Amino acid sequence: MSRYTESKCKLCRREGEKLFLKGTRCEGEKCAITRRNYAPGQLGKNKFGKQTEYGRHLRAKQKARRIYGISEKQFADYYAKADKQHGVTGTALLQLLETRLDNVIYRSGFASSRNQARQIVNHGLVRLNGRRVDIPSITVKIGDKFEIREKDKGSALFEEAKKNKKFKSPKWLNAEVGNLKGEVLGMPEKDDAESNIDTQLIVEYYSK
Ligand code: SF4
Repeated sequence: MSRYTESKCKLCRREGEKLFLKGTRCEGEKCAITRRNYAPGQLGKNKFGKQTEYGRHLRAKQKARRIYGISEKQFADYYAKADKQHGVTGTALLQLLETRLDNVIYRSGFASSRNQARQIVNHGLVRLNGRRVDIPSITVKIGDKFEIREKDKGSALFEEAKKNKKFKSPKWLNAEVGNLKGEVLGMPEKDDAESNIDTQLIVEYYSK
């Protein structure tokens, strides 16, 4: 799968807002949006002019794609799948994105960013319903139980997560950060997505 490998901060600067792609760095003064909130490139400071309708649709889609760190093709596939489902397409799309295993690990507080969560899954540190898994895009279902492998729970990788007593997982997940395990209680609704994603604009982008 092709992945974006350049500076993640450039992606935030292109969208003109924090997408929280780098974990704890995003909260500090080093955040590029805090220091240079204009688009990257030589003409960056002049890039945030009046947007066309197409531009608004495109930016909404790009923002969502960048937040979840997935390729153009994969995002289009998620949309096609959401469009085939009963109910509101935008909500179905958000559910497909939110229920990716890497996102679940991030939303459970076991990782400081979705990127780190993806690496944790890729390296086989996660058990899903008792079985070791290493595919970040696996879709979890209601009732699924997930946890960090017992032998990896003491890893320095999870020290920060375990210390974060204030962390609250979304209501559709029952995550025990201290024990690095959790369960999927329900399906996320539109309001459960933590980022300000405008699904209506994304639907309009793909409906053209
Ligand atoms: Fe975005 Fe985080 Fe970089 Fe700030 S530090 S620009 S929020 S990735």
